[in-house]
Amino acid sequence: MDKEKIWEKFLEQINQRVSVVTFNTWFKELKLLTINDKDIVIIVPYLAHKNHIINNYMEMVEEIFLELLGVVHNIIFCLESEYKERLEQERINSPNMNNLINESQEVIEKFVQERKTNLNDKYTFENFVVGDSNRFAFSSCLAVAQNPGKLYNPLFMYGKSGLGKTHLMHAIGNYINATSDLKVLYITTDEFMNEFISITKDSGNKEENLNYIDLFKSKYRDVDVLMIDDIQFLGSATVTQQEFTNTFNSLYYNDKQIIICSDRSVDDLKMFADRLKTRFNWGLKAIIAVPEFELKVKIIKNKINNYDQTLEISDEIIDFIASNCGSDVRNIEGAITRLFAYAAIWGIKQLTLENTLEALDEYTNNMLYVDKSINKIMSVVANYFNLTVDDLKGKKRSKQVANARMIAMYLCRTLTDETYPRIALEFGGRDHSTIIHGYEKIYEDIKNNGELEKIINELKLKMSE
Ligand code: ADP
Ligand code: MG
Repeated sequence: MDKEKIWEKFLEQINQRVSVVTFNTWFKELKLLTINDKDIVIIVPYLAHKNHIINNYMEMVEEIFLELLGVVHNIIFCLESEYKERLEQERINSPNMNNLINESQEVIEKFVQERKTNLNDKYTFENFVVGDSNRFAFSSCLAVAQNPGKLYNPLFMYGKSGLGKTHLMHAIGNYINATSDLKVLYITTDEFMNEFISITKDSGNKEENLNYIDLFKSKYRDVDVLMIDDIQFLGSATVTQQEFTNTFNSLYYNDKQIIICSDRSVDDLKMFADRLKTRFNWGLKAIIAVPEFELKVKIIKNKINNYDQTLEISDEIIDFIASNCGSDVRNIEGAITRLFAYAAIWGIKQLTLENTLEALDEYTNNMLYVDKSINKIMSVVANYFNLTVDDLKGKKRSKQVANARMIAMYLCRTLTDETYPRIALEFGGRDHSTIIHGYEKIYEDIKNNGELEKIINELKLKMSE
Protein backbone atom coordinates (compact mmCIF):
# COMPACT_ATOMS: atom_id res chain seq x y z
CA MET A 1 0.00 0.00 0.00
CA ASP A 2 1.35 3.46 -0.73
CA LYS A 3 1.31 6.33 1.71
CA GLU A 4 -1.81 8.02 0.32
CA LYS A 5 -3.78 4.81 0.38
CA ILE A 6 -2.82 4.08 3.98
CA TRP A 7 -3.85 7.55 5.03
CA GLU A 8 -7.14 7.32 3.21
CA LYS A 9 -7.93 4.00 4.92
CA PHE A 10 -6.89 5.42 8.26
CA LEU A 11 -9.25 8.38 7.94
CA GLU A 12 -12.04 6.09 6.82
CA GLN A 13 -11.62 4.02 9.96
CA ILE A 14 -11.55 7.03 12.23
CA ASN A 15 -14.59 8.42 10.53
CA GLN A 16 -16.49 5.26 11.33
CA ARG A 17 -15.54 5.31 14.99
CA VAL A 18 -16.08 8.94 16.02
CA SER A 19 -18.88 11.47 15.60
CA VAL A 20 -18.94 13.81 12.63
CA VAL A 21 -18.17 16.80 14.81
CA THR A 22 -15.20 15.09 16.40
CA PHE A 23 -13.91 14.01 13.04
CA ASN A 24 -14.19 17.47 11.54
CA THR A 25 -12.70 19.19 14.55
CA TRP A 26 -9.77 16.93 15.30
CA PHE A 27 -8.94 14.72 12.34
CA LYS A 28 -9.92 16.35 9.11
CA GLU A 29 -7.00 18.73 8.95
CA LEU A 30 -4.28 16.26 9.88
CA LYS A 31 -1.67 15.33 7.30
CA LEU A 32 0.43 12.23 7.07
CA LEU A 33 4.04 13.25 6.68
CA THR A 34 6.09 10.05 6.66
CA ILE A 35 5.90 6.36 7.34
CA ASN A 36 9.05 4.31 7.73
CA ASP A 37 9.80 1.01 9.46
CA LYS A 38 9.64 2.56 12.88
CA ASP A 39 7.78 5.84 12.79
CA ILE A 40 4.60 7.38 11.52
CA VAL A 41 4.73 11.16 11.58
CA ILE A 42 1.49 13.13 11.45
CA ILE A 43 1.39 16.89 11.18
CA VAL A 44 -1.24 18.77 13.19
CA PRO A 45 -2.36 22.33 12.49
CA TYR A 46 -2.44 23.48 16.12
CA LEU A 47 -1.05 22.37 19.43
CA ALA A 48 -4.55 21.71 20.68
CA HIS A 49 -4.92 18.87 18.17
CA LYS A 50 -1.84 17.17 19.42
CA ASN A 51 -2.83 17.35 23.07
CA HIS A 52 -6.39 16.37 22.44
CA ILE A 53 -5.63 13.36 20.26
CA ILE A 54 -2.89 12.06 22.49
CA ASN A 55 -5.10 12.35 25.55
CA ASN A 56 -8.24 10.90 24.04
CA TYR A 57 -7.69 8.89 20.88
CA MET A 58 -4.17 7.56 20.98
CA GLU A 59 -5.17 3.98 21.62
CA MET A 60 -7.64 4.02 18.78
CA VAL A 61 -5.07 5.52 16.41
CA GLU A 62 -2.48 2.90 17.28
CA GLU A 63 -4.98 0.13 16.88
CA ILE A 64 -6.03 1.27 13.41
CA PHE A 65 -2.46 1.56 12.17
CA LEU A 66 -1.64 -1.85 13.56
CA GLU A 67 -4.58 -3.34 11.68
CA LEU A 68 -3.59 -1.60 8.48
CA LEU A 69 0.15 -2.26 8.59
CA GLY A 70 0.51 -5.35 10.71
CA VAL A 71 3.45 -3.86 12.61
CA VAL A 72 3.61 -1.66 15.67
CA HIS A 73 4.78 1.86 14.85
CA ASN A 74 5.84 4.74 16.95
CA ILE A 75 3.22 7.39 16.23
CA ILE A 76 4.34 10.97 16.41
CA PHE A 77 2.06 13.98 16.26
CA CYS A 78 3.79 17.27 15.75
CA LEU A 79 3.54 20.80 14.44
CA GLU A 80 5.57 21.69 11.37
CA SER A 81 7.90 23.80 13.45
CA GLU A 82 8.54 20.98 15.89
CA TYR A 83 9.22 18.60 13.06
CA LYS A 84 11.73 20.97 11.57
CA GLU A 85 13.61 21.08 14.84
CA ARG A 86 13.60 17.30 14.94
CA LEU A 87 15.06 17.14 11.46
CA GLU A 88 17.82 19.53 12.38
CA GLN A 89 18.63 17.47 15.45
CA GLU A 90 18.74 14.32 13.35
CA ARG A 91 21.06 15.96 10.88
CA ILE A 92 23.51 16.50 13.71
CA ASN A 93 23.05 13.05 15.26
CA SER A 94 23.27 10.97 12.12
CA PRO A 95 25.04 12.81 9.30
CA ASN A 96 25.03 9.71 7.12
CA MET A 97 21.23 9.91 6.88
CA ASN A 98 21.29 13.28 5.15
CA ASN A 99 19.53 12.07 2.03
CA LEU A 100 16.52 10.85 3.94
CA ILE A 101 16.44 14.00 6.00
CA ASN A 102 16.50 16.16 2.89
CA GLU A 103 13.55 14.25 1.56
CA SER A 104 11.51 14.88 4.70
CA GLN A 105 12.56 18.48 4.57
CA GLU A 106 11.09 18.77 1.10
CA VAL A 107 7.82 17.27 2.19
CA ILE A 108 7.54 19.66 5.06
CA GLU A 109 8.34 22.64 2.83
CA LYS A 110 5.44 21.56 0.69
CA PHE A 111 3.14 21.60 3.68
CA VAL A 112 4.27 25.09 4.55
CA GLN A 113 3.56 26.23 1.00
CA GLU A 114 0.09 24.76 1.05
CA ARG A 115 -0.69 26.41 4.33
CA LYS A 116 0.05 29.87 2.98
CA THR A 117 -3.30 30.29 1.35
CA ASN A 118 -5.41 32.53 3.50
CA LEU A 119 -4.10 35.66 1.80
CA ASN A 120 -5.07 37.30 -1.44
CA ASP A 121 -1.94 37.39 -3.56
CA LYS A 122 -3.43 40.13 -5.70
CA TYR A 123 -2.55 42.64 -2.99
CA THR A 124 1.16 43.45 -2.84
CA PHE A 125 3.45 46.34 -1.95
CA GLU A 126 4.46 46.59 -5.60
CA ASN A 127 0.98 47.38 -6.83
CA PHE A 128 0.13 49.79 -4.02
CA VAL A 129 0.42 53.34 -5.27
CA VAL A 130 2.08 55.67 -2.78
CA GLY A 131 1.44 59.38 -2.24
CA ASP A 132 1.60 61.84 0.64
CA SER A 133 -1.64 60.65 2.21
CA ASN A 134 -0.58 57.02 2.60
CA ARG A 135 3.23 57.17 2.60
CA PHE A 136 3.60 56.86 6.35
CA ALA A 137 1.23 53.89 6.54
CA PHE A 138 2.95 52.25 3.58
CA SER A 139 6.42 52.63 5.08
CA SER A 140 5.25 51.40 8.48
CA CYS A 141 3.73 48.30 6.89
CA LEU A 142 6.86 47.60 4.89
CA ALA A 143 9.03 47.99 7.99
CA VAL A 144 6.81 45.58 9.91
CA ALA A 145 6.89 43.09 7.03
CA GLN A 146 10.68 43.20 7.07
CA ASN A 147 10.98 42.91 10.86
CA PRO A 148 7.90 41.14 12.17
CA GLY A 149 7.56 41.22 15.94
CA LYS A 150 10.65 43.34 16.37
CA LEU A 151 9.99 46.93 15.45
CA TYR A 152 6.46 48.21 15.87
CA ASN A 153 4.10 46.10 17.89
CA PRO A 154 1.19 46.33 17.55
CA LEU A 155 0.80 48.22 14.32
CA PHE A 156 -2.53 50.03 14.38
CA MET A 157 -3.58 51.29 10.96
CA TYR A 158 -6.69 53.39 10.50
CA GLY A 159 -8.49 55.36 7.86
CA LYS A 160 -11.79 55.59 6.00
CA SER A 161 -13.22 52.76 3.97
CA GLY A 162 -11.67 52.08 0.59
CA LEU A 163 -8.28 53.68 1.21
CA GLY A 164 -6.20 50.51 1.08
CA LYS A 165 -5.99 49.15 4.62
CA THR A 166 -6.93 45.60 3.71
CA HIS A 167 -4.67 45.80 0.67
CA LEU A 168 -1.70 46.70 2.87
CA MET A 169 -2.44 43.95 5.38
CA HIS A 170 -2.41 41.32 2.67
CA ALA A 171 0.75 42.87 1.27
CA ILE A 172 2.44 42.42 4.65
CA GLY A 173 1.28 38.81 4.81
CA ASN A 174 2.39 38.02 1.28
CA TYR A 175 5.77 39.61 1.89
CA ILE A 176 6.39 37.65 5.09
CA ASN A 177 5.27 34.43 3.42
CA ALA A 178 7.66 34.98 0.56
CA THR A 179 10.63 35.76 2.75
CA SER A 180 10.23 33.50 5.79
CA ASP A 181 8.50 30.45 7.20
CA LEU A 182 6.65 32.42 9.83
CA LYS A 183 3.05 31.49 10.40
CA VAL A 184 0.78 34.31 9.29
CA LEU A 185 -2.93 34.54 9.97
CA TYR A 186 -5.25 37.16 8.49
CA ILE A 187 -8.81 37.37 9.75
CA THR A 188 -11.65 39.81 9.77
CA THR A 189 -13.19 40.79 13.07
CA ASP A 190 -16.47 39.31 11.86
CA GLU A 191 -14.83 35.93 11.39
CA PHE A 192 -13.13 36.10 14.77
CA MET A 193 -16.42 37.01 16.43
CA ASN A 194 -18.49 34.37 14.67
CA GLU A 195 -15.99 31.68 15.39
CA PHE A 196 -15.77 32.60 19.04
CA ILE A 197 -19.53 32.73 19.41
CA SER A 198 -20.04 29.35 17.77
CA ILE A 199 -17.31 27.81 19.86
CA THR A 200 -18.60 29.11 23.17
CA LYS A 201 -22.15 28.04 22.43
CA ASP A 202 -23.10 25.31 24.87
CA SER A 203 -23.00 21.96 23.10
CA GLY A 204 -24.39 20.18 26.16
CA ASN A 205 -21.09 18.43 26.68
CA LYS A 206 -18.79 20.22 29.06
CA GLU A 207 -15.64 18.47 27.97
CA GLU A 208 -16.36 19.12 24.34
CA ASN A 209 -16.92 22.82 25.06
CA LEU A 210 -13.57 23.11 26.76
CA ASN A 211 -11.90 21.35 23.85
CA TYR A 212 -13.34 23.77 21.36
CA ILE A 213 -12.11 26.69 23.38
CA ASP A 214 -8.65 25.12 23.48
CA LEU A 215 -8.69 24.72 19.74
CA PHE A 216 -9.73 28.31 19.26
CA LYS A 217 -6.97 29.57 21.52
CA SER A 218 -4.40 27.46 19.73
CA LYS A 219 -5.47 28.72 16.37
CA TYR A 220 -4.95 32.38 17.23
CA ARG A 221 -2.01 32.07 19.57
CA ASP A 222 0.22 29.61 17.75
CA VAL A 223 1.01 32.11 15.04
CA ASP A 224 3.89 34.49 14.45
CA VAL A 225 1.86 37.23 12.84
CA LEU A 226 -1.81 37.92 13.51
CA MET A 227 -3.63 40.46 11.36
CA ILE A 228 -7.14 41.45 12.32
CA ASP A 229 -9.19 43.63 10.01
CA ASP A 230 -12.01 46.09 10.82
CA ILE A 231 -11.57 45.92 14.58
CA GLN A 232 -14.23 48.63 15.07
CA PHE A 233 -16.86 45.85 14.87
CA LEU A 234 -15.61 44.36 18.10
CA GLY A 235 -17.28 47.27 19.89
CA SER A 236 -20.63 45.57 20.18
CA ALA A 237 -19.27 42.29 21.55
CA THR A 238 -18.03 42.48 25.12
CA VAL A 239 -17.20 38.84 25.70
CA THR A 240 -15.38 38.42 22.42
CA GLN A 241 -13.48 41.59 23.26
CA GLN A 242 -12.25 40.01 26.45
CA GLU A 243 -11.11 36.95 24.52
CA PHE A 244 -9.36 39.14 21.99
CA THR A 245 -7.56 40.91 24.83
CA ASN A 246 -6.29 37.53 26.03
CA THR A 247 -5.16 36.62 22.54
CA PHE A 248 -3.45 39.97 22.24
CA ASN A 249 -1.59 39.51 25.51
CA SER A 250 -0.43 36.04 24.66
CA LEU A 251 0.96 37.16 21.30
CA TYR A 252 2.38 40.42 22.55
CA TYR A 253 4.33 38.93 25.43
CA ASN A 254 5.77 36.30 23.12
CA ASP A 255 7.02 38.97 20.71
CA LYS A 256 4.61 37.93 17.99
CA GLN A 257 3.55 40.61 15.54
CA ILE A 258 0.02 42.00 15.79
CA ILE A 259 -1.47 44.21 13.08
CA ILE A 260 -4.82 45.86 13.56
CA CYS A 261 -6.97 47.84 11.13
CA SER A 262 -9.83 50.12 11.92
CA ASP A 263 -11.99 52.66 10.13
CA ARG A 264 -11.52 55.11 13.01
CA SER A 265 -8.84 56.18 15.44
CA VAL A 266 -8.27 54.48 18.79
CA ASP A 267 -9.94 57.39 20.60
CA ASP A 268 -13.03 57.07 18.44
CA LEU A 269 -13.55 53.36 19.02
CA LYS A 270 -16.90 53.19 20.76
CA MET A 271 -17.77 50.56 23.35
CA PHE A 272 -14.19 49.38 23.70
CA ALA A 273 -12.75 48.58 27.11
CA ASP A 274 -10.02 51.04 28.07
CA ARG A 275 -7.78 48.08 28.74
CA LEU A 276 -7.87 47.16 25.07
CA LYS A 277 -7.57 50.72 23.77
CA THR A 278 -4.48 51.24 25.90
CA ARG A 279 -2.92 48.22 24.23
CA PHE A 280 -3.61 49.61 20.79
CA ASN A 281 -1.57 52.63 21.81
CA TRP A 282 1.48 50.60 22.80
CA GLY A 283 2.96 50.27 19.34
CA LEU A 284 2.81 52.42 16.25
CA LYS A 285 -0.30 54.10 14.88
CA ALA A 286 -0.48 54.95 11.20
CA ILE A 287 -3.28 56.84 9.52
CA ILE A 288 -4.17 56.56 5.86
CA ALA A 289 -5.68 59.87 4.87
CA VAL A 290 -7.99 60.63 1.96
CA PRO A 291 -5.93 60.59 -1.26
CA GLU A 292 -4.86 63.91 -2.71
CA PHE A 293 -5.68 64.68 -6.34
CA GLU A 294 -2.22 63.69 -7.63
CA LEU A 295 -2.40 60.32 -5.91
CA LYS A 296 -5.82 59.65 -7.37
CA VAL A 297 -4.45 60.37 -10.81
CA LYS A 298 -1.57 57.98 -10.20
CA ILE A 299 -3.92 55.26 -8.99
CA ILE A 300 -6.20 55.71 -11.99
CA LYS A 301 -3.29 55.50 -14.43
CA ASN A 302 -2.08 52.41 -12.67
CA LYS A 303 -5.48 50.72 -12.93
CA ILE A 304 -5.86 51.67 -16.57
CA ASN A 305 -2.57 49.92 -17.27
CA ASN A 306 -4.16 46.64 -16.24
CA TYR A 307 -6.68 46.91 -19.05
CA ASP A 308 -6.66 46.51 -22.77
CA GLN A 309 -4.25 49.12 -24.05
CA THR A 310 -6.04 49.80 -27.30
CA LEU A 311 -8.52 52.13 -25.64
CA GLU A 312 -7.22 55.66 -25.45
CA ILE A 313 -8.00 57.64 -22.34
CA SER A 314 -6.88 61.24 -22.28
CA ASP A 315 -5.50 63.15 -19.31
CA GLU A 316 -8.63 65.24 -19.34
CA ILE A 317 -10.73 62.15 -18.68
CA ILE A 318 -8.40 60.96 -15.96
CA ASP A 319 -8.68 64.38 -14.29
CA PHE A 320 -12.43 64.17 -14.56
CA ILE A 321 -12.54 60.81 -12.80
CA ALA A 322 -10.11 61.99 -10.15
CA SER A 323 -12.25 65.02 -9.34
CA ASN A 324 -15.72 63.51 -9.57
CA CYS A 325 -15.71 60.00 -8.20
CA GLY A 326 -15.08 60.66 -4.53
CA SER A 327 -12.04 59.54 -2.62
CA ASP A 328 -12.91 55.91 -1.95
CA VAL A 329 -10.46 54.00 -4.16
CA ARG A 330 -12.96 51.17 -4.48
CA ASN A 331 -15.37 53.63 -6.17
CA ILE A 332 -12.67 54.92 -8.44
CA GLU A 333 -11.91 51.35 -9.51
CA GLY A 334 -15.61 50.82 -10.12
CA ALA A 335 -15.77 53.87 -12.35
CA ILE A 336 -12.85 52.63 -14.44
CA THR A 337 -14.35 49.18 -14.83
CA ARG A 338 -17.54 50.79 -15.98
CA LEU A 339 -15.77 53.02 -18.45
CA PHE A 340 -14.02 50.07 -20.08
CA ALA A 341 -17.23 48.05 -20.19
CA TYR A 342 -19.01 51.00 -21.80
CA ALA A 343 -16.30 51.40 -24.42
CA ALA A 344 -16.33 47.68 -25.18
CA ILE A 345 -20.10 47.56 -25.58
CA TRP A 346 -20.21 50.55 -27.94
CA GLY A 347 -17.02 49.62 -29.74
CA ILE A 348 -15.36 52.89 -28.82
CA LYS A 349 -11.59 53.15 -29.39
CA GLN A 350 -11.06 56.70 -28.24
CA LEU A 351 -13.14 58.02 -25.39
CA THR A 352 -14.24 61.62 -25.36
CA LEU A 353 -15.22 63.55 -22.28
CA GLU A 354 -18.80 63.37 -23.48
CA ASN A 355 -18.72 59.56 -23.63
CA THR A 356 -17.20 59.52 -20.19
CA LEU A 357 -19.89 61.75 -18.75
CA GLU A 358 -22.53 59.49 -20.17
CA ALA A 359 -20.82 56.28 -19.07
CA LEU A 360 -20.34 57.54 -15.55
CA ASP A 361 -23.51 59.58 -15.35
CA GLU A 362 -25.32 57.57 -12.75
CA TYR A 363 -22.08 56.94 -11.06
CA THR A 364 -20.95 60.50 -10.49
CA ASN A 365 -24.53 61.58 -9.79
CA ASN A 366 -24.85 59.04 -7.06
CA MET A 367 -21.55 60.06 -5.70
CA LEU A 368 -22.22 63.76 -5.73
CA TYR A 369 -25.86 64.30 -5.03
CA VAL A 370 -27.16 61.45 -2.96
CA ASP A 371 -25.60 61.00 0.39
CA LYS A 372 -26.95 57.66 1.39
CA SER A 373 -24.73 57.29 4.39
CA ILE A 374 -26.08 55.94 7.64
CA ASN A 375 -25.88 59.38 9.23
CA LYS A 376 -27.92 60.93 6.48
CA ILE A 377 -30.59 58.27 6.82
CA MET A 378 -30.74 58.77 10.56
CA SER A 379 -31.13 62.51 10.32
CA VAL A 380 -33.83 62.30 7.62
CA VAL A 381 -35.81 59.71 9.59
CA ALA A 382 -35.42 61.60 12.86
CA ASN A 383 -36.59 64.81 11.22
CA TYR A 384 -39.57 63.16 9.62
CA PHE A 385 -40.83 61.81 12.94
CA ASN A 386 -39.91 64.93 14.95
CA LEU A 387 -37.25 63.06 16.87
CA THR A 388 -33.52 63.54 17.29
CA VAL A 389 -30.76 61.30 15.96
CA ASP A 390 -29.87 60.53 19.58
CA ASP A 391 -33.38 59.16 20.09
CA LEU A 392 -32.72 56.68 17.29
CA LYS A 393 -29.35 55.70 18.67
CA GLY A 394 -30.59 55.60 22.25
CA LYS A 395 -32.53 53.09 24.32
CA LYS A 396 -35.99 54.72 24.55
CA ARG A 397 -38.65 52.11 23.95
CA SER A 398 -41.81 54.15 23.34
CA LYS A 399 -43.74 52.81 20.38
CA GLN A 400 -43.14 55.86 18.23
CA VAL A 401 -39.38 55.88 18.78
CA ALA A 402 -39.07 52.13 18.36
CA ASN A 403 -40.95 52.27 15.09
CA ALA A 404 -38.90 55.13 13.66
CA ARG A 405 -35.76 53.31 14.71
CA MET A 406 -36.75 50.15 12.86
CA ILE A 407 -37.58 52.14 9.75
CA ALA A 408 -34.14 53.75 9.92
CA MET A 409 -32.55 50.31 10.29
CA TYR A 410 -34.49 49.06 7.30
CA LEU A 411 -33.39 51.99 5.16
CA CYS A 412 -29.76 51.62 6.21
CA ARG A 413 -29.82 48.01 5.15
CA THR A 414 -31.57 48.60 1.83
CA LEU A 415 -29.94 51.86 0.74
CA THR A 416 -26.33 51.36 1.77
CA ASP A 417 -23.79 48.59 1.33
CA GLU A 418 -23.05 48.58 5.02
CA THR A 419 -23.00 45.28 6.91
CA TYR A 420 -25.26 44.54 9.88
CA PRO A 421 -22.46 44.88 12.43
CA ARG A 422 -21.50 48.28 11.07
CA ILE A 423 -25.07 49.52 11.13
CA ALA A 424 -25.41 48.13 14.66
CA LEU A 425 -22.39 50.11 15.71
CA GLU A 426 -23.87 53.35 14.40
CA PHE A 427 -27.10 52.63 16.23
CA GLY A 428 -25.43 53.14 19.57
CA GLY A 429 -23.50 49.87 19.55
CA ARG A 430 -26.46 47.50 19.58
CA ASP A 431 -26.17 43.83 18.90
CA HIS A 432 -26.38 43.21 15.18
CA SER A 433 -29.26 40.76 15.60
CA THR A 434 -31.36 43.80 16.62
CA ILE A 435 -30.75 45.34 13.21
CA ILE A 436 -31.67 42.12 11.43
CA HIS A 437 -34.86 41.99 13.46
CA GLY A 438 -35.74 45.64 12.67
CA TYR A 439 -35.07 45.14 8.99
CA GLU A 440 -37.15 41.98 8.79
CA LYS A 441 -40.03 43.47 10.73
CA ILE A 442 -40.40 46.43 8.37
CA TYR A 443 -39.78 44.23 5.33
CA GLU A 444 -42.75 42.07 6.37
CA ASP A 445 -44.97 44.96 7.49
CA ILE A 446 -44.67 46.86 4.22
CA LYS A 447 -46.30 43.97 2.40
CA ASN A 448 -49.67 44.58 4.07
CA ASN A 449 -49.42 48.17 5.13
CA GLY A 450 -49.89 50.76 2.39
CA GLU A 451 -49.42 53.63 4.82
CA LEU A 452 -46.00 52.35 5.83
CA GLU A 453 -44.99 51.88 2.24
CA LYS A 454 -45.92 55.48 1.56
CA ILE A 455 -43.81 56.70 4.46
CA ILE A 456 -40.84 54.70 3.28
CA ASN A 457 -41.14 56.14 -0.22
CA GLU A 458 -41.39 59.67 1.11
CA LEU A 459 -38.30 59.09 3.19
CA LYS A 460 -36.42 57.77 0.17
CA LEU A 461 -37.38 60.89 -1.74
CA LYS A 462 -36.14 63.12 1.06
CA MET A 463 -32.90 61.18 1.06
CA SER A 464 -32.06 62.45 -2.42
CA GLU A 465 -32.96 66.08 -1.76
P1 ADP B 1 -10.01 49.40 3.00
O1 ADP B 1 -9.62 48.08 3.60
O2 ADP B 1 -9.23 50.54 3.55
O3 ADP B 1 -11.47 49.66 3.04
P2 ADP B 1 -9.08 48.18 0.55
O4 ADP B 1 -7.70 47.79 0.95
O5 ADP B 1 -10.09 47.10 0.49
O6 ADP B 1 -9.62 49.37 1.46
O7 ADP B 1 -8.99 48.92 -0.86
C1 ADP B 1 -10.09 49.02 -1.75
C2 ADP B 1 -9.60 48.83 -3.15
O8 ADP B 1 -8.80 49.94 -3.54
C3 ADP B 1 -8.73 47.59 -3.31
O9 ADP B 1 -9.01 46.99 -4.55
C4 ADP B 1 -7.32 48.14 -3.29
O10 ADP B 1 -6.44 47.35 -4.07
C5 ADP B 1 -7.49 49.51 -3.91
N1 ADP B 1 -6.55 50.51 -3.40
C6 ADP B 1 -6.69 51.30 -2.33
N2 ADP B 1 -5.65 52.12 -2.18
C7 ADP B 1 -4.80 51.84 -3.19
C8 ADP B 1 -3.51 52.35 -3.58
N3 ADP B 1 -2.92 53.32 -2.90
N4 ADP B 1 -2.92 51.81 -4.68
C9 ADP B 1 -3.54 50.83 -5.36
N5 ADP B 1 -4.74 50.31 -5.05
C10 ADP B 1 -5.37 50.81 -3.97
MG1 MG C 1 -10.89 46.68 4.47
